[in-house]
Amino acid sequence: FPFGRRSPCDIYWHGVSFHDNNIFSGQVNKFPGMTEMVRKITLSRAVRIMQNLFPEEYNFYPRSWILPDEFQLFTAQVQMVKDGDPSWKPTFIVKPDGGCQGDGIYLIKDPSDIRLAGTLQRRPAVVQEYICKPLLIDKLKFDIRLYVLLKSLDPLEIYIAKDGLSRFCTEPYQEPTPKNLHHIFMHLTNYSLNIHSGVDIKKVWSDIISLVIKTVIALTPELKVFYQSDIPAGRPGPTCFQILGFDILLMKNLKPILLEVNANPSMRIEHEQELSPGVFENVPSLVDEEVKVAVIRDTLRLMDPLRKKRENQESLSLGLNIQEYNLVDEAGKEPSQMCRDLGQGLLLMGSSWRECQPGTEAEAPLGGVDHLHENGVGSH
Ligand code: ADP
Repeated sequence: FPFGRRSPCDIYWHGVSFHDNNIFSGQVNKFPGMTEMVRKITLSRAVRIMQNLFPEEYNFYPRSWILPDEFQLFTAQVQMVKDGDPSWKPTFIVKPDGGCQGDGIYLIKDPSDIRLAGTLQRRPAVVQEYICKPLLIDKLKFDIRLYVLLKSLDPLEIYIAKDGLSRFCTEPYQEPTPKNLHHIFMHLTNYSLNIHSGVDIKKVWSDIISLVIKTVIALTPELKVFYQSDIPAGRPGPTCFQILGFDILLMKNLKPILLEVNANPSMRIEHEQELSPGVFENVPSLVDEEVKVAVIRDTLRLMDPLRKKRENQESLSLGLNIQEYNLVDEAGKEPSQMCRDLGQGLLLMGSSWRECQPGTEAEAPLGGVDHLHENGVGSH
């Protein structure tokens, strides 16, 4: 509504970030402060706080240092480990803060690398341990983009889309050596594809769900501060929800590693095709369409303000029994399932969301989450 709105809306969809202070009701698709919180430096800092408190629970994020502030610490800690274990030959990845799509990223073997000196002078960055043994498919390194719906911050409600995308490297992977360190098409994943692999899916899913929940928990305290300052309690204002893009790398042993969180994941369903040399055209991308349309559709379903009303009416007539529905999606292709357990407040809906409220038993067990509660993280 570039020229203003005539009447209030149920759902407001902002393109980039939360910015409209003239909304007094309804639901907005961005949380205040989310863009700031998931930048490389702030995310690393938020996860580090939790790593210090719960090192075992937060070992899904590579050890990271913030540059230039922690350059001395980085050098000293690397030296310390090297002194203890001379056979340790680490690789580090340097990522400028606020960069995206691989912009400005490079690999180094040693803190004394001359390129690091340049970065230190130019812009803030994160340097982190490089994961040398990623899982490969057809000899290629890949990472996973998952869509996560943060439906509410308080109480914390998180949904994970069952379908995501994978980006594959185009050059076969080799562990880093001084010779191949510059082959970015081997070390940075960069192409969208669907993934169908045959590993212990249940275990991987449960680890990924834990990773997502723990990452959101790490961001929550500061997100609440942003929320209270932009939407103070007791004054008319909207509630917020947000679709996040989680970039995850699987290690050879299938352990998921968090690479980054994107507050504004691309929802484009077309890609550029080179028709003839130098001539490009946007064409529909079926993979993007299948994954992303489902994510937006189910987000709108879950945020539908009339749903609660309908549910309450239905639950009265159903007498609060566990009910299972088999739905057929609009295209009539795949049956999707909506099941619910009104007693526990667990809701799985549509074909694409995996519910992951801490403490409930969704399809996959939630690993260390209950443990987190015992340690008091749940009260953050
Ligand atoms: P960007 O926002 O520029 O995409 P990312 O943090 O997602 O930055 O990194 C880009 C790519 O680099 C990732 O997709 C992944 O393939 C690779 N990468 C990033 N961090 C690591 C790491 N710690 N270990 C191994 N590979 C990494």
